[in-house]
Amino acid sequence: MGTKDDEYDYLFKVVLIGDSGVGKSNLLSRFTRNEFNLESKSTIGVEFATRSIQVDGKTIKAQIWDTAGQERYRAITSAYYRGAVGALLVYDIAKHLTYENVERWLRELRDHADQNIVIMLVGNKSDLRHLRAVPTDEAKAFAERNNLSFIETSALDSTNVESAFHNILTEIYKIVSQKQIRDSPNDEISPGSNVQSITVAPTVNPAQGRKQCCS
Ligand code: GDP
Ligand code: MG
Repeated sequence: MGTKDDEYDYLFKVVLIGDSGVGKSNLLSRFTRNEFNLESKSTIGVEFATRSIQVDGKTIKAQIWDTAGQERYRAITSAYYRGAVGALLVYDIAKHLTYENVERWLRELRDHADQNIVIMLVGNKSDLRHLRAVPTDEAKAFAERNNLSFIETSALDSTNVESAFHNILTEIYKIVSQKQIRDSPNDEISPGSNVQSITVAPTVNPAQGRKQCCS
């Protein structure tokens, strides 16, 4: 037990969403295995792949979930989103429809994911310059209006793939570590470790019956 792979400070679940064919599976394989595949193997779905990175001297293990092609049938289940702290919402810069559908994916996130999930809009296939259908500025402005971070990537030539994952993981890390500071008790008044904290049980509504308490 205790292999190096299991040593991490934070484990973050990040989901890949977006229309079928935009390059989600290839972004995942590029980031976790440095592999790219020209053929789309949408039916062979790994549930997730992991890779650890260093942020601020901490080891962040990213557990990145990919669909097995269910997005084609708009049949992603809520289990896919459960526990996710980040989402890469991917479109294809050469296929305008996949960009138009970003709004639908945002609604899907609003309905199924945690409301504090960090979302990054990713315009993939930036290598297809001659076929570009979505101007960078337009997508950038859309992202700003919707409070999303934004990046263009190419899973094919590797441009910005590292940055995309690093940026979203760093963003999540900053939120989580700040929350820890906020939530941790003030040193001045916190009891020593030998002191048991006392939980005050809430007043019980008689209509719901009396609960026996006590810690
Ligand atoms: P998914 O359905 O969103 O998982 O998309 P895939 O990763 O299966 O990719 C769909 C197709 O787009 C495949 O033929 C890939 O080879 C191709 N593809 C993925 N990423 C890129 C990219 O960055 N550039 C180019 N030119 N093709 C890509
Ligand atoms: Mg796929």
